[in-house]
Formats: sequence, structure tokens, C-alpha cells
Amino acid sequence: MAELPQHTKLIFATHNPHKLTELRQILSQEVEAFTPESLVSAAGIGAPEPVEDGATFAENALIKARAIVQATGIAAIADDSGICVDILGGAPGIFSARWAGRHGDDEANLDLLLNQLADVPQKNRGAAFVSAAALVSPDGTETVRTGKVRGQLLTARRGHGGFGYDPIFLPAGYQLTTAEMSAEQKNQISHRGIAFRSLAPLIAELL
Ligand code: IMP
Repeated sequence: MAELPQHTKLIFATHNPHKLTELRQILSQEVEAFTPESLVSAAGIGAPEPVEDGATFAENALIKARAIVQATGIAAIADDSGICVDILGGAPGIFSARWAGRHGDDEANLDLLLNQLADVPQKNRGAAFVSAAALVSPDGTETVRTGKVRGQLLTARRGHGGFGYDPIFLPAGYQLTTAEMSAEQKNQISHRGIAFRSLAPLIAELL
């Protein structure tokens, strides 16, 4: 593992660069003392990814955050998130990142989901993005907050922003997919925005 940048107060237990960008934007707006440089990621310090063998988003978020606290002695935050499709009984859920078999292959995951839902009419294409955001302190204090945004899955991709399933997710009440929205618009309504804004007062105390 690489040496920690001086004055590191908080580590984001993620290897997903899109999540790091989103969280920096969310906390910049929410926490006065926050600067983008004050948040380093697990990937940025060369920390290995732990096995995510929890049964829920919250369990997996805690696994990721605890692993970083154990390795560094510094407070960690983590997000475990995914898309929960009504007609699939909530799947892919915690398996969203590896739905097509290989962790983090966004294009393959999206193609597989589109194919699985090919014959499903629009009225039955309800889904939700869900995030569990965990904050773990070196003294063992653990807090988990969740965020959820409901919407509909389209039958083809629209937009080039965001990542993962964003090009087919139309949030309820909006005409744009989360891949067509600006980063600010997406963060305002997103599962991760909701979950981390709820953790923001606790994060502020650490900075
Ligand atoms: P995690 O990194 O194990 O939490 O996996 C998250 C996976 O859920 C990502 O790889 C995406 O497939 C999906 N996901 C989570 N949040 C979003 C989002 O904001 N937009 C699109 N896909 C998302």
C-alpha cells in the first residue's frame, strides 16, 4: 500500500473513479470544510479490494469501510449500491457490478439487463437505484445511511454521462435519464446523493 498523503483524515473505500468524482462533488456542496484533495480513495492508496460477501448493501458497505480502517487506522467511508428491478424481484441488487460475470464491466452488465427485459412492457419496468453509505471510525463507531431513487428502465441507452446503468434509468418525474443529466442534477436526486448528504454532518466532524 502506498504512503498516505499528509493530513489524510478520511478515505473513500472505492476503486470506482466515477463514485469518487460524485462523492467529491456531493461533499463539496454539503460540507464547508471539505476540499476534494482531503478525500483519497482506496484505489489511490493502492489498498486491495476486500471480498464483498455480505448479503445486503449495508453489510457490503461496512465490509469495505472496515477493511480500510483496519489497514490504515484512519476513518473510512464506503458506498455499496446497485439497481433493483421490480420484475426481477430486486435483482441485480448487490450483484449489479458483476451481473454479467465480470466485476465492473458496465457495458456487458447493461446489455445483459436490456436483453433480460427485452419483452417486458414499459408499465412493468419499474426499478430503483439504492445506496448504503457507511462511515467507520478508528474507535469502532459505525453508521450506515441509505438512499433510494425510483424510476423506469428504458429499452435502449440514452445519454453519455454517469456510469453503469445510468443510460437506461429514467428517474420518476423526470424526462432525462441519469446519463443525460448534468452531474449536479444527478447528485441532487441520486441514491448516493441522498445517502451521503445524510452522513455529511458526521463527516464534517472528522475534517
Ligand atoms: P459497487 O461498487 O459494488 O457498489 O457496485 C455498484 C454497481 O451498481 C455499479 O458498478 C453499477 O453497475 C451500479 N450502480 C451503482 N450506482 C450507480 C449509479 O449511480 N449509476 C449507474 N449504475 C450504478
